[in-house]
Amino acid sequence: MAVIIFKRRFALFLVLLLIFLFIMLLSQGYFCSNMDIDEEVKWVSKKVLELSAKERRLQLQEERLLHLEKELNKSYSNSAVSMLKQQQSFIKDLPTIYAITPTYARCVQKAELTRLSQTFLHVRNFHWIVVEDAVEKTPLVTNFLRNCGLIYTHLNIATPEDHKLQENDPNWLKPRGVLQRNIALKWLRDNLDVDNKQGVVYFADDDNTYDLKLFDEMRSTKQVSVWPVGLVGALRYESPVVHNGKVTGWFTYWKPERPFAMDMAGFAINLQLMLKNPQANFKIRVPRGYQESELLKHLVTMQDLEPKAENCSKVLVWHTRTEKPKLKNEDKLKKTGQQSDPDIEV
Ligand code: UDP
Ligand code: MN
Repeated sequence: MAVIIFKRRFALFLVLLLIFLFIMLLSQGYFCSNMDIDEEVKWVSKKVLELSAKERRLQLQEERLLHLEKELNKSYSNSAVSMLKQQQSFIKDLPTIYAITPTYARCVQKAELTRLSQTFLHVRNFHWIVVEDAVEKTPLVTNFLRNCGLIYTHLNIATPEDHKLQENDPNWLKPRGVLQRNIALKWLRDNLDVDNKQGVVYFADDDNTYDLKLFDEMRSTKQVSVWPVGLVGALRYESPVVHNGKVTGWFTYWKPERPFAMDMAGFAINLQLMLKNPQANFKIRVPRGYQESELLKHLVTMQDLEPKAENCSKVLVWHTRTEKPKLKNEDKLKKTGQQSDPDIEV
């Protein structure tokens, strides 16, 4: 055993000695002339320069890769939206649905708009007209729309203070979304050509719930199409009454004598009909429950109405209302010196 170790050590010693001698001879210029050394020095410094340039290029490429990786991570969260966005390319000859949504600032607003927009992303040939009840467009809605993946128009108009619902008013006390819907109608009339644009106008409040089938139903609206609305008028549903394919009245408990006793979510209007009748608008001062009638009286009679959703036998839209969240612990937390981060948008 000791002999083997000695032999190995001796062999190692010999190898090291040979390397040492070789380096000595090399450093004395034993293998080349003086001329060669100059050349060698030049060659080596050239190589060193080349290497450092390559290193710099690699460094730059690495930085670019890091940047791309960051960008990719950023867009990853939006990848589902961008996939759907691609489907938004318009299909020729399919009438466009113009959905008008009044909206106002409150703590659930972004949640409502998110739910709504992600339903609408599944609808082909869709143009969302969002109207803020505000003196100026807010950053929240502006940024939200920019990233929502839908084709949209962003408008704003504030409801005058004396007509505005106050914090603790019951929601039925004053008309809601009236000026907002009107300004959207004005936008349609100012921007679309009555002769060559096939389309349908629908009033899609920001808190309702929409089945995608509803948009297939309304797409073929010739004048005004109608259907039931779920969870409205303190009933399971309200609905036009249909006999032999024609609307003959209204299934509702509340004010059945109204000319069009329907909720805003229960009808859609042909775009050309809307554009040809600029007098058809909503009004701030109309008796409660008469907004729908106020608009429709300029456009159709009951006999003209086109029942959809299997002769008004299916509920495809619900007049849901979002509960106002309790935020009382925010104040309590503040008193302890802590606070939720105001920079986190909710
Ligand atoms: N709305 C508005 N300003 C208001 C209150 C409501 O623009 O001050 C909008 C709201 O975002 C919704 C529509 O008007 O899109 C109808 O309002 P809401 O859902 O409160 O009324 P309801 O469902 O009771 O008819
Ligand atoms: Mn509502």
